[in-house]
Amino acid sequence: MHIHALPAFTDNLIWMIEDADCLWWVDPGDASVVIAAAAQTSARPTGLWLTHHHADHCAGVAELLARWPQLQIIGPNDARMPWVQQKVGDGDRVEISAHSSMLVIATPGHTRSHHAYLLTNALQDHLFCGDALFSAGCGRLFEGDGADLLLSMRRLRSLHDATLVYAAHEYTAANLAFARHLLPEDAAIAAYSDFVTSRRKCDQWTIPSSIVREKSINVFFRWDDPAIYHALCDRHHDLADTACTILAQLRQDKDAFRA
Ligand SMILES: [Zn+2]
Repeated sequence: MHIHALPAFTDNLIWMIEDADCLWWVDPGDASVVIAAAAQTSARPTGLWLTHHHADHCAGVAELLARWPQLQIIGPNDARMPWVQQKVGDGDRVEISAHSSMLVIATPGHTRSHHAYLLTNALQDHLFCGDALFSAGCGRLFEGDGADLLLSMRRLRSLHDATLVYAAHEYTAANLAFARHLLPEDAAIAAYSDFVTSRRKCDQWTIPSSIVREKSINVFFRWDDPAIYHALCDRHHDLADTACTILAQLRQDKDAFRA
């Protein structure tokens, strides 16, 4: 199995999974990018996985379906995503080949029906998390609150450490700038931030990441770390010490942060 990163728009990544002789795409926001990638392989276009309804994740669906009517279109049960044929929910598992399957994980917060998909096979787990989780960050809370974010982060943080994390945007450097501003003494964040800066200077991706890496450098995976609470309390003196409040405040501070 091969997983290819297809850059789209300014900072989106469409993920293409080539498994056996099948091609699957996650969040095909731009049909032309998908069509160009399909032309590079003899594998057969098989289906689309959609994490949520935003246009930069779905805008290519209609054109791709017109071109390849056999495509399976799998996603949340949400009226804003009329193209979804196979509506899936939390805990559902869909076979994608003889050796691999996708587990659906509900990840509300960015949107209320947002899904992440965990591709599992004998060798490695791969998490396609759309805008729920980014490397060193998470998506904005457009339709959810701190409780939704906690539910989603808890689910994702509990995955196996070695799971590779395929977010839908390359936002790592900006996320680390916020993390460094919040926790200037954190050695892991400082070191990784320097590494990411050097990679991005050479136009190299920082995704996929991994669950174990995110546990150290993603402040949204550290809601129960006292260092995060104390750093937030320096700015918000009466902040309640609950996981939901901490995550909601982190997200609000990130929204307001300008490097
Ligand atoms: Zn989005």
